[in-house]
Amino acid sequence: MHIRDILAADQTTLSFEFFPPKSEAESQALFENIASLEALQPSFVSVTYGAGGSTRELTHNLVTRIQSTTTLDPIPHLTCVCHQASDIEDILTKYAAAGVSNILALGGDPPRNLPSYNKADDAFQHAADLVRFIRQFNERKLHPDPRGFGIGVAGFPEGHPSTPNRLDELDYLRAKVAEGAHYICTQLFFDNRDFFDFRERCELAGISAPIIAGIMPVTSLASMKRMAQLALGARFPAKLLRALHRCQDSPEAVRNVGIHWATEQCRDLLDNGVKGIHLYTLNRSDATRQIYQNLGLRDSTIVRRR
Ligand SMILES: Cc1cc2nc3c(=O)[nH]c(=O)nc-3n(C[C@H](O)[C@H](O)[C@H](O)COP(=O)(O)OP(=O)(O)OC[C@H]3O[C@@H](n4cnc5c(N)ncnc54)[C@H](O)[C@@H]3O)c2cc1C
Repeated sequence: MHIRDILAADQTTLSFEFFPPKSEAESQALFENIASLEALQPSFVSVTYGAGGSTRELTHNLVTRIQSTTTLDPIPHLTCVCHQASDIEDILTKYAAAGVSNILALGGDPPRNLPSYNKADDAFQHAADLVRFIRQFNERKLHPDPRGFGIGVAGFPEGHPSTPNRLDELDYLRAKVAEGAHYICTQLFFDNRDFFDFRERCELAGISAPIIAGIMPVTSLASMKRMAQLALGARFPAKLLRALHRCQDSPEAVRNVGIHWATEQCRDLLDNGVKGIHLYTLNRSDATRQIYQNLGLRDSTIVRRR
């Protein structure tokens, strides 16, 4: 379903993110978790795109498998990194043929496994250029939906590490929306004040696209460290660190603290009229299900109109 229809139908969207599994065993585990999450009827699910090389095909495979074997609505991520316009054209053509309705258009992380990578060789230097290309693809009416793909872009409540000038950064975000993005999904954050302030700054900058908040529950100290590396610049509030430090010898207690923290973030976001919450699942289902349960969202009609 086109993201515009999803946003119109759901008062608050609730969505999940997966990454492509790299082995058959991981894939089997993921589809067991997907089956369990399907019962929660998320507004959509999204699938990340690797920074280069072999995992990229896996994104396409996972998206089309979700599309054809589940009731879920998958949104593939797509990045500028290591792509020429013809690659992107092929990918969009394949997704259009598979009936995929939306794309999250991103700059992309630089590939760690390609030391010779040179950003200047990419056809698109910034996500805004990719958004423009997708919009132009849409205008050629190559998608079964006459509107073409719905387009999402990334937003960074705490700022993106490569643009220290926060005013410039909002200009770049506004450019992505002006090029045709229909919604913004944020980087994970642990202090809602950062999100609310970002939302207000977007409003002041005339950015009117709906903003979906990215939430990642801490489920282990190791995953928190991985997150800190993936989401460079993310702030881990002292209150959260203190709570985790108190129970660091008990993995179960760490998980409980992390899920409690994420639940409180979601509750506060819902109380303050957030348009959507996107949960980074790390391909698991237990933390997401627990958060739903804590929030009383087992019956997803609480925040949904359709
Ligand atoms: C929700 C979400 C999902 C993500 N999923 C993935 C994924 O699947 N795969 C992956 O590789 N990465 C992913 N990322 C990470 C993301 O690709 C990187 O953080 C990337 O560096 C920024 O992406 P962007 O789309 O904001 O890029 P851009 O909008 O291109 O911005 C990148 C940097 O360039 C700056 N910039 C933008 N326009 C200009 C301009 N005209 N002139 C100068 N500077 C400019 C921005 O301020 C920013 O600092 C995700 C991030 C988020 C928030």
